[in-house]
Amino acid sequence: MLNKNFLLFSCFAILILLWSCSEHRQQRHSQFQEWMTNNGKLKVLSTTGMIDDLVKNIGGSHVDALTLIHGELDPHSYQLVKGDDEKLSFAQIIFYNGLELEHGPSLHNYLLHNDKAVSLGDRIIQTDPSQVILVDQKADPHIWMDVSLWARSVPIIVETLSRLDPPHADDYRRNGEKLMAEMADAHVEIKSTMHKVPEHQRYLVTSHDAFNYFTRAYLSEEGERESGEWRKRFAAPEGLAPESQLSTIHIKEIIDYLREHQIHQIFAESNVSRDSINKIIQAGQEQGLNIEVACCVLYSDAMGEKGSEADSYLKMILYNARTLSSHLGDHQSHIPKEK
Ligand SMILES: [Zn+2]
Repeated sequence: MLNKNFLLFSCFAILILLWSCSEHRQQRHSQFQEWMTNNGKLKVLSTTGMIDDLVKNIGGSHVDALTLIHGELDPHSYQLVKGDDEKLSFAQIIFYNGLELEHGPSLHNYLLHNDKAVSLGDRIIQTDPSQVILVDQKADPHIWMDVSLWARSVPIIVETLSRLDPPHADDYRRNGEKLMAEMADAHVEIKSTMHKVPEHQRYLVTSHDAFNYFTRAYLSEEGERESGEWRKRFAAPEGLAPESQLSTIHIKEIIDYLREHQIHQIFAESNVSRDSINKIIQAGQEQGLNIEVACCVLYSDAMGEKGSEADSYLKMILYNARTLSSHLGDHQSHIPKEK
């Protein structure tokens, strides 16, 4: 009887999931049709939702903004699909993250050789190279995870929109100033939220290397930002892109890290497979560690779905901070220091 009920429940859940996916597809298709209509507005295409959110705030009713890579897809490895060519050629301007975030060959080549494409990350880093975090000699592209750094995208977007649409330049400037003020407030709030966690418990393990900028800005102490010591506060089994194979050496390193810093929970990310963290949990438990996957996922390479608690850029980062603040440090005394 139990099996029959379980089977019925599973079928029902799958049907709901399929229905919801097809709803999302339909919504996206009608957004696309609307965006492709000539209506006198600036047609702006952004690779990720985090960029699109800034564009919508700055452009307001003067722009038609569209995202190329939807939430559930991995921006690191995204390759152009049917219909993308139309979007890319119809767009009057394309904003992308750069710093090799979008390194799927077909998209990467298109962006690199197109005059309409503006890389926010590369422009920010050219202005102030000291802000870039290097991991194995490569620039970490996850710059949106530090709100004060991501705010440096705003003047670039304001300037680009104003150049293409001078009559509305004043509106873009005003909207940009308002957005930067909101981002400055959020930056202070996130720092204060994270610093409610005692210093010795501000250590984080997630699926992939997306939280370096977050750790440097919000988990570390002042002196650690200067010395580079902030790096000891974050570890992830997968590298800058969540596509690498997990070796036994990586598993051992993470388990040693969990043990050293008395960490009890590993955080999954909304658009990254849990395979790696499940392997670590299993290996850790076999060695007597009391570890588990944290109850709530974090948002790293994508915002939450429309209507969720993380459906805008600032909501996403504030949600991450609240979630971490209420879960870091839980039950850590249960972990044996040494096997
Ligand atoms: Zn990533």
